[in-house]
Amino acid sequence: MGGAAALVGLAACSPNDQNSSAKDSAKPETAGNAKTYEPTEVIDADVVVVGSGSSGMCATVQAAELGAKTYCLEKNAEVGGNGRGTEGIFALGTSAQRDAGVQIPTFREIIATDAEFFNYRINSLFWVDMVSNSADNWEWLVGNGVKFSGVVDNYGVGGVPCFHWFVDANGGDSYIEPMAAKAEELGATIMTSTPVVDLVITDGAVTGVYAEREDGSVIQINAKGVILASGGYANNVEMMEARGYDMTYTINQGRPGHDGDGLRMAVAAGAQDVSLERCFLRDPYTYGLNFFLPFSFAVCRGGPMMWVNQDAERYVNEACGSVTPGNNSNAVHTQKVSWLIFDQAQAERFAETTENFLADLADAVAQCPGDNIYQADTIEALAGAAKLDPATLKATLERYNELAKSGVDEDFNKPAEKMFPLETPPYYIFRQDMSFWTSIGGIHTNRKFQAVDVDGNPVPGLYAVGTDGCELYRETYTMNIPASCQGNNCNSGRMAAKEICAAL
Ligand SMILES: Cc1cc2nc3c(=O)[nH]c(=O)nc-3n(C[C@H](O)[C@H](O)[C@H](O)COP(=O)(O)OP(=O)(O)OC[C@H]3O[C@@H](n4cnc5c(N)ncnc54)[C@H](O)[C@@H]3O)c2cc1C
Repeated sequence: MGGAAALVGLAACSPNDQNSSAKDSAKPETAGNAKTYEPTEVIDADVVVVGSGSSGMCATVQAAELGAKTYCLEKNAEVGGNGRGTEGIFALGTSAQRDAGVQIPTFREIIATDAEFFNYRINSLFWVDMVSNSADNWEWLVGNGVKFSGVVDNYGVGGVPCFHWFVDANGGDSYIEPMAAKAEELGATIMTSTPVVDLVITDGAVTGVYAEREDGSVIQINAKGVILASGGYANNVEMMEARGYDMTYTINQGRPGHDGDGLRMAVAAGAQDVSLERCFLRDPYTYGLNFFLPFSFAVCRGGPMMWVNQDAERYVNEACGSVTPGNNSNAVHTQKVSWLIFDQAQAERFAETTENFLADLADAVAQCPGDNIYQADTIEALAGAAKLDPATLKATLERYNELAKSGVDEDFNKPAEKMFPLETPPYYIFRQDMSFWTSIGGIHTNRKFQAVDVDGNPVPGLYAVGTDGCELYRETYTMNIPASCQGNNCNSGRMAAKEICAAL
């Protein structure tokens, strides 16, 4: 639509005019705050950090360390957000990596990996900064009391051995608790159960925040810089639906509180919303199953299954997530509905390596928690249960079996070792629903993590870090460089805090 509008004006415009008119038409209205507030208390600070998770904690400690009067406001009753669930962080060239004796990859390999994956539609300078600073960031975390196990590996996803595991494989105890203690030791004020509800905007610049106390009263905290570290919008059903997701049978694996407040406030202050071009940490799963059961992992991750869509057609290589796990959910999301099908022979193969598989399978079929799991003795009956066209499903299955027996998947190139004929009843069919963990990215920033408008101009006083502003990926959370998201959380938080403090 915007492109068509720009073309209409082509004859009358110089090339530069065209660009600016196209951009202007795409520019969101800067609405400012929809509400007015009557604060009961006004505080003057240097830095306000919105959110106390992985990135907010780094921003808070860094700002306090540099002597800034720092407030960190948290919506939930406890600090940490999804940072409490994290297991480790990316770093390159650390003493831990050397001590672990892993083959340390080169800087250039890492920088090139995701650039190549995304066809160079990402700004590699964000990777350059994150990777260049990562060893220093890791040492800084250790110096602030964050505890690592000493294990450094590739997280088992085939990427580079740069994943530094926390000591408890639990970011709450190993990372968030010591960082919160450090922030307070350095004089920062952390306020929990105090959500930031709006930004204070003065003559187009962000000059502070309004936050709501538990008793409903509003405080205003004025600051030289506000750092949005609110962790994205994956808990906000309306925002997810507006981005095209049917949330009926989804689950969210993260902590509550990720309601898109950062994105909403940034856009109201004039920042560009790039959330449609950014990704999620998400996996296909089947509604009602315990995601973490070995059974669930075996069934839901593709490989030796056959996947069909709402028209009972096979549509993809089902092992598409074997290198980049995010590709599983990308593929599933290309169809209106996706089902996975396997037979009793496959169930028994799984049972050889997956604890309790057959009992968990029987339970799942008995429960059928969301009109989504069926067992049947014939393919026609299976199709009937899932409301698929029986003749098409039968033809699809016959073709799949023919390919499996020939040893070459002429249709989608699935590796032969993942192709097994499905011909031993009973048959099983599971709908592939979506499990979201977190959104990654949405507020456009420059390299200093300043929120920027559609022309790339900074919104004065406003920064977006962590998953609020992540620019490392586009539509896929690749995991080619495992824990790079955490690498960015720490790096962006620190860089934004340093930037504000340098100007104090
Ligand atoms: C369970 C889980 C495990 C993960 N493990 C890893 C991993 O091991 N390695 C990796 O690289 N990535 C991992 N990720 C991805 C990502 O790195 C994490 O989501 C990380 O916590 C993101 O940091 P953040 O600071 O952006 O958000 P969070 O850590 O979620 O922090 C955001 C905080 O902002 C608060 N907040 C929201 N709105 C407001 C408001 N209006 N006012 C005040 N506070 C507000 C939230 O309550 C929350 O506490 C994981 C994600 C999940 C969900």
